[in-house]
Amino acid sequence: MSERTIALVTGANKGIGYEIAAGLGALGWSVGVGARDDQRRKAAVERLRTAGVDAFGVPLDVTDDASVIAAARLIEEQAGRLDVLVNNAGIAGHMPQEPTRIDPATIRTVVETNVIGVIRVTNAMMPLLRRSPSPRIVNMSSSVGSLTLQSGTTAEQRTGPVAVAYAPSKTFLNAVTLQYARDLSGTNILINAGCPGYVATDLNGFHGVRTPEQGAAIAIKLAILPDDGPTGQFFDDAGVVPW
Ligand code: NDP
Repeated sequence: MSERTIALVTGANKGIGYEIAAGLGALGWSVGVGARDDQRRKAAVERLRTAGVDAFGVPLDVTDDASVIAAARLIEEQAGRLDVLVNNAGIAGHMPQEPTRIDPATIRTVVETNVIGVIRVTNAMMPLLRRSPSPRIVNMSSSVGSLTLQSGTTAEQRTGPVAVAYAPSKTFLNAVTLQYARDLSGTNILINAGCPGYVATDLNGFHGVRTPEQGAAIAIKLAILPDDGPTGQFFDDAGVVPW
């Protein structure tokens, strides 16, 4: 069994996920680069290794049961356990997403990736996480999933566009995070949701104002929480985000 801390980051071939992998790698950790596309995954692993990261590729499509099971098997063979799981993979879905115009298929696709994908991966990795002395799970959420912020009294308080597939998928993910925290209470597994802020990536056509590295910071912070750290909460760089 590896002496290094072992992490898996889903959707780590680009954007915020890549920078989370780089940041965890800089701590001296061994980082599994979860990515569904062979070429993009190999390129990311190569880039990380060139930067000195102990990176290994993990073929992983979070919407595919067989792929997720194979990923768990690979990590079992490679490392024997998993210390940190960062559920970062996510999609925005086709826009526009005004509720009155939405194609229900878009909602299904987004929820399949952003919510069910997280559950699928988390449960497949759970036996490996339970073998860790300090398991951590980080779910990449968004303040657009905050019901409090979405229902703010002024338009300025409301973040993100009206998007009835993407925003509620993150609300759903936040609720799922809370459910896991309750189910896992009494164990040493800490699970939290993090918001990276508005980051310039493919997800938003690079309209975001923060860098992927800045967006990765909250995930790294939640990945290295001490044993008496919080669980079942939602954070951004500034602190607790209201549900
Ligand atoms: P990107 O589009 O740059 O990256 C998304 C990553 O997820 C890619 O690696 C993509 O892989 C992967 N992915 C998508 N679907 C799947 C799948 N089915 N299986 C495996 N991997 C998949 O987006 P960001 O880096 O911006 O987003 C990362 C996370 O941060 C997401 O959960 C997003 O919702 C969240 N977030 C982002 C914000 C922002 O402003 N950018 C704000 C708040 C939250 P591929 O290259 O193959 O498509």
